[in-house]
Amino acid sequence: MEFEKFKVMQFPRDVIVGHSILHNIPSLVPLYSRGKGVLIITGNITYGVTGREVESMLKDARIETQVIKTGDATYENLVKCEEEARGIKPGIMIGVGGGSKIDLTKKSAFDLDVPFISVPTSPSHDGIASPRATIKKGSLVLSENARMPVAIVADTSVLIKAPYRYLAAGAADVISNVTAVLDWKLANRIKGEEVSSSAATLAEYAATELMEKAHMILPGVEESAWLVTKQILASGTAMAIASSSRPASGSEHLFSHAIEMTGKGTAIHGELCALGTVATMFLHGGDWKKLASVFKQINISIRAADYGLTSEDVIHALSTAHSIRPERYTILGESDLSHSAAERALEITEII
Ligand SMILES: [Zn+2]
Repeated sequence: MEFEKFKVMQFPRDVIVGHSILHNIPSLVPLYSRGKGVLIITGNITYGVTGREVESMLKDARIETQVIKTGDATYENLVKCEEEARGIKPGIMIGVGGGSKIDLTKKSAFDLDVPFISVPTSPSHDGIASPRATIKKGSLVLSENARMPVAIVADTSVLIKAPYRYLAAGAADVISNVTAVLDWKLANRIKGEEVSSSAATLAEYAATELMEKAHMILPGVEESAWLVTKQILASGTAMAIASSSRPASGSEHLFSHAIEMTGKGTAIHGELCALGTVATMFLHGGDWKKLASVFKQINISIRAADYGLTSEDVIHALSTAHSIRPERYTILGESDLSHSAAERALEITEII
């Protein structure tokens, strides 16, 4: 029989992470640009924090630069960004901002077939280094195919200025790889889904590193941003090896998306992943107490009520999350999780 396996992996070419490194951006542009001019996609606040600085560095280097300031990663904003970008016809795009601006840039770059550079200003989730974009369309949260950045420039002196809550949430997003990998291995046993051991091992490693070093993830300490960002990048590499978000997104992410779709509560993505990974680790029969104590260390609550969510919201999300991505088999199964199992998983997050 002929050998028929094949795989396509996309990696960033330059990953620059560390203190005060934004000045590297102008020299990256001629390496990757496919035409004339740069388009920066940023937000009003992030333009003030970093976007303006990047813009003036590029202009100083005599690189034609235009800026679009946009808002949340919604479908409406995506359409507007893409319309404007089509008019500008940039040779390369640079996303400067937190998760939403990077999501809008990577999806626009994918749709317009233009390379893009990721310049995160907040380490709040692993999307800064992944080829998937989360876009809200009405009440739906879509995980869309997007472009892997050709380069990532993560300046720790910028990242540490974001509120601690975002840093902790970014760490939680990576730590939640532990249940994502358990789900992947479960899907292998139950469904015969292929698992990439290298991707799974790297995703687990990133999570374990942050669990072991949780005491070093501190507010206002630049090395904390360094620690978390490094593992966010490792998580991104795991996804690149797998050519899928599988190693970093399992039942805990389905739960997170289920809550995000309702628009209820005040939790940000990584916080929902924390709550989700403790609950689904319990369902896996694993060491959920260890996870809970790590989240306590980095000041992340896993109590639904602290985010304005009711028990019913959580139980409903746990029960129905499997239907969001039916092809992604997880511990949540293929039909609604029983009310009593969801209730028990919720209870354990409340007694901590
Ligand atoms: Zn995530």
